Amino acid sequence: MRMPDTDSLRGKRYLRLHQRGRNSSANAEARVLRDIESELDHFAPTQADFPPTREEALRRMAAIDTRAYRRYRDYARGPVSRLSPYITHGLLSVPEVFSSVVARGESGPADRFVQELAWREFFRHVWRHLGDGIVEDIRDALPGVLYTSEMPADVLSAATGVPVIDASVRELYATGYLHNHQRMWLASYLVHMRKIHWRAGADWMYGYLLDGDLPSNHLSWQWIASTFSRRPYLFNADNVQRFAAHLSSRGTGIDRGYEELGQIAASNVQLEPEAGGLGQAVSEPGLLALPPALAPAAEPPLIAGNERVAWVHPWSLGARPDADRVIGVIHRPFHAQFPWSEHRWAFVIGAMRKVCDEIWIGDLQRLAQIQGGQVAEVQATLNPGYREAIATLPGARRPEPRLTPDPDDLKPSFSRFWEHVLATRSINFSPVG
Ligand SMILES: Cc1cc2nc3c(=O)[nH]c(=O)nc-3n(C[C@H](O)[C@H](O)[C@H](O)COP(=O)(O)OP(=O)(O)OC[C@H]3O[C@@H](n4cnc5c(N)ncnc54)[C@H](O)[C@@H]3O)c2cc1C
Repeated sequence: MRMPDTDSLRGKRYLRLHQRGRNSSANAEARVLRDIESELDHFAPTQADFPPTREEALRRMAAIDTRAYRRYRDYARGPVSRLSPYITHGLLSVPEVFSSVVARGESGPADRFVQELAWREFFRHVWRHLGDGIVEDIRDALPGVLYTSEMPADVLSAATGVPVIDASVRELYATGYLHNHQRMWLASYLVHMRKIHWRAGADWMYGYLLDGDLPSNHLSWQWIASTFSRRPYLFNADNVQRFAAHLSSRGTGIDRGYEELGQIAASNVQLEPEAGGLGQAVSEPGLLALPPALAPAAEPPLIAGNERVAWVHPWSLGARPDADRVIGVIHRPFHAQFPWSEHRWAFVIGAMRKVCDEIWIGDLQRLAQIQGGQVAEVQATLNPGYREAIATLPGARRPEPRLTPDPDDLKPSFSRFWEHVLATRSINFSPVG
């Protein structure tokens, strides 16, 4: 979550061009952008699907190229890992990914890839301190601006007429994944240009993302909305042109200077859909409170008195736990509040079937009352409802694997969090462990 990449050679060249500013010709700028586009062509085409297996997660982890990532991470066609669904659902942990890149001897505290993993850790740190408070405004929104909770029909049907927005909505529905920059653009457009309350946008995006993660998602939306940052995040058509030329949105409502965009964000002015947008409309696939083709159970599964049971929930889908019987558990009330797309359910249930003997859907509090004494293993989680039920179990609760111990006091920003982590030397950057 950064402003444009100024580290990379290309980034510096681009900025120099801009600093020389208006004197430099539009042709020179176009040449630099064309060079970057042709360099991006050299990366393997990104795989659009996400097979729900640990083998696939390990393959993606081995393919991470931290040098290329540093240079091109912010480009929508750049070499990002696409590991997030696997990390969110516990098929792979952040400490594993960190150790894998550090072992190659290319990563230190300033490494871009490591820092992005650390952003995820920071959001979890805030979650531990604020709990369910992360889904409410952390600070006041922009004064005097009125936001609505109703998502606009033209956004839901990818028919705003702004190419970067419509293409991103279509990609989200089709694949369950979006590049970080596209998430930022979509969120900023909805909140600041269309005046949708960040919570409505965050719940919608969370449901369609295969990696939908309450802290990473809802706190990122708050960061963009400025309820968890000092200023709103804004973008314009030049920014899209630079990082996603194939989604060029010149000549649309976002083709303005930052000063004007700032005035729109701070007022109750709303951009209208572009004329002609409706021609491209798609239907919103819809979100489901239950996995398709699986019904809630009337009764808890019967277990023998001497059986050692392990529970596996949607965020702990790694290796099969060591137990006589492994039960995949879906806590119904959570998913009624935060429904998921059919794609996401397919990913989760596909991975769950590989490590569980059976899947049970119902109220986890009730299951905990009945089976509690026999649950020998389960991973703790802060996801509401799951959190409380698991906390009542007398048996072993594995903590979620984390890169670093959580600071005791809440760090108000990523930089304060990261400074603390580095000062306490709680992460080992040595390639040999
Ligand atoms: C509006 C918005 C919503 C988001 N929602 C989610 C979400 O629901 N789930 C989610 O995992 N991430 C979310 N992110 C963060 C980020 O966009 C994704 O983690 C990243 O794009 C996933 O792609 P990747 O695996 O290829 O990441 P890479 O760039 O390859 O990064 C490797 C890993 O680092 C972590 N990471 C990278 N960038 C971030 C970041 N900015 N914040 C937190 N963790 C990061 C992820 O675990 C990711 O898999 C959101 C960002 C924004 C702006």
